[in-house]
Amino acid sequence: MSVLVFAENWEGKFKKPTFEVLTYGFELAQKIGGTLTAIVCGSNISAEELQKLGSYGCSKVLYTNNAAFASFSAMLYAAAIAETALKENSKYIVFSQTYSGKSIAPRLAARLKAGLVAGAVSLPSGTEPFVVKKKCFSGKGFTDVQVSSEIKIVSLSPNAHHIFAADEHRAPEFKIEEFSPAFPAADTTVNEIIKTSGKVVLTEAELVVSGGRGLKGPENWGMVEALADSLGAATACSKPVADMGWRPHHEHVGQTGITISPNLYIAIGISGAIQHLAGISSSKVIAAINTDKEAPIFQAADYGIIGDAFQIVPKLTEAVKQLKKI
Ligand SMILES: Cc1cc2nc3c(=O)[nH]c(=O)nc-3n(C[C@H](O)[C@H](O)[C@H](O)COP(=O)(O)OP(=O)(O)OC[C@H]3O[C@@H](n4cnc5c(N)ncnc54)[C@H](O)[C@@H]3O)c2cc1C
Repeated sequence: MSVLVFAENWEGKFKKPTFEVLTYGFELAQKIGGTLTAIVCGSNISAEELQKLGSYGCSKVLYTNNAAFASFSAMLYAAAIAETALKENSKYIVFSQTYSGKSIAPRLAARLKAGLVAGAVSLPSGTEPFVVKKKCFSGKGFTDVQVSSEIKIVSLSPNAHHIFAADEHRAPEFKIEEFSPAFPAADTTVNEIIKTSGKVVLTEAELVVSGGRGLKGPENWGMVEALADSLGAATACSKPVADMGWRPHHEHVGQTGITISPNLYIAIGISGAIQHLAGISSSKVIAAINTDKEAPIFQAADYGIIGDAFQIVPKLTEAVKQLKKI
């Protein structure tokens, strides 16, 4: 029996969430006494890139290079993965809870009549019954979900699982096979893709510098960007900041924005409302700068500076620059 892992690629390259989910899939395969198969859908994946998956415990990689996957359509991905899962007789399918994983996994679950644990944070405690811990109440709590359907799908929260070192668990046999899925007629068409250039992508960022209403206006964002640039971090913001048009909506994190799990989240002039924390609470380390020592962000923060951002942030940027010179 194999565990099927969706090995997501970004323009033909595998990144951290893929290796994390492969590690998870390998450990799940060990629990069920099976092997690990990765499925890769893309339009320009090189043989060299596919070889990398062998270093993370895969026995088999099934890949398709098709122009249809050049732009994202959850329906096409779900159809291709469903077809493969049925052919491979895979009863366990694993995704990373990325933008793509979030939209493919539920569609796949509906197609396969499978139970889905979305936002899992651990391996199943056992396989009979199959019980997996996941986040609930916008990350404020955890719940154990039992899946009793024949096919089980797990969508793993990014940064929730360790990644083993490349080649730590190379499978004795490793093969790469091409497959050609039957495509349903697409119900949406992508006309144009506009990419942000030269910036760290927020959803993939290890470090994030985020600003809130305490920064008073869009004209003050230069210091947030300067700190982010000095650290090599992405920038983010609270909801009101995006609503007022100070920052673009794709930077808005929280319950109604995006969820991120960076290694470090620096919150500047952000009060730390529960809806904001919902999007950032799984960050490894949270640091906050706020004039109000009673601000709720300090309850969630690992490090806090009580003070005026306009005084502190430029000094912090200067200190980072000095440190980098050493
Ligand atoms: C259904 C719903 C969904 C929501 N979803 C989201 C969401 O996804 N994301 C989100 O962010 N919010 C969301 N909100 C809004 C949320 O409730 C808060 O209103 C919002 O997060 C507050 O944003 P803020 O912290 O930037 O602003 P404020 O709450 O106004 O906080 C500003 C902070 O800056 C501090 N400050 C002021 N001056 C300075 C200074 N000079 N230096 C340092 N600190 C300073 C203040 O002490 C204060 O703590 C949602 C609300 C609802 C009802």
